[in-house]
Amino acid sequence: MMAPLGEGREARPRVVVSRCLGFDSCRYNGDTVNNAFIEGLAGHVDLVTVCPEVEGGLGVPRDPIRIVLDGGAPSLYQPATGRDVTGAIAAMADSFLGGMTDVDGFILKSKSPSCGIGDVKIYPNRDAQAPSGRGTGLFAADVLRRFPGVLVEDEDRLRNPRVREHFLTFAFTLARFRAVESSAKMSALVAFHAEHKMLLMAYGQEATRSLGRLVSNRDRLPIGRVLAEYRAGLSRALARGARYTSNVNVLQHAFGYVSDGLSEGEKALFLRDLELYRDERVPLRTCLDLVRSWAVRFDVEYLLGQRFFMPFPDELMELSECSSRRDMW
Ligand code: SF4
Repeated sequence: MMAPLGEGREARPRVVVSRCLGFDSCRYNGDTVNNAFIEGLAGHVDLVTVCPEVEGGLGVPRDPIRIVLDGGAPSLYQPATGRDVTGAIAAMADSFLGGMTDVDGFILKSKSPSCGIGDVKIYPNRDAQAPSGRGTGLFAADVLRRFPGVLVEDEDRLRNPRVREHFLTFAFTLARFRAVESSAKMSALVAFHAEHKMLLMAYGQEATRSLGRLVSNRDRLPIGRVLAEYRAGLSRALARGARYTSNVNVLQHAFGYVSDGLSEGEKALFLRDLELYRDERVPLRTCLDLVRSWAVRFDVEYLLGQRFFMPFPDELMELSECSSRRDMW
């Protein structure tokens, strides 16, 4: 009997995290922000921490900084001292990010003028008392510009189980793909694509077909070019979370591999759970585990080898925090 995908065979993603998210008391006021999800990652993920403001020489504690426009490009200004620290943070970012390879994800601190993604207060000028809009911190903007094929999230958005599941799926899939890149073997790419076929189908049929064409390599392109194009296509395919209806379609497809051996009661149970999932009353994991248990029972090698059922370690699945809203699943 083939063992299901599981512990001992899992790649470890490399994820960059804002250091104040539980690793050091480096916020401007000497605080840290504990985060249970990030703590839980430590056993499965290689975490690389960074504090752009401390590494940019601002020290702890420090006077707060803010993003100001002053009619031009966003800059980082420290009102209490009148200092413009844009150059210090830009130089730090260049030195830290410039030599960085092999990164599978970023978790940055929300609302920070350095680390925040999209929710940072922006002031129209140095003297303004109130912000005029929201935008992205300067370090985070550099991350987004340099790593377009990697998922960048903040700890606030990761409270949503669906965002969290998407982040973990993306990071673990990229980490597994890095192993294929290291091998530089076509056979490793073929195996990777086969293992992720159903997962990719849940993210989009067209992307799956296009990646399949790359793997078949009819034009006999060199392996380096195939891998580069596959990575770009894989990142694009995974950029948005799996669609709800696509998950249902893939589940039905998977069910077809086991349904012949099931009793009428078991088939009814699956159809009931699928309806509950459609109605946002149970998480995807309920249906996945049901089909996976039958794949184990009937030793359906194809299903047991599919990452759709286990895109990242089971221990990272925190069902207890799932809510009943559709956008949470
Ligand atoms: S938000 Fe970023 S710059 Fe601010 S303390 Fe945290 S890691 Fe440092």
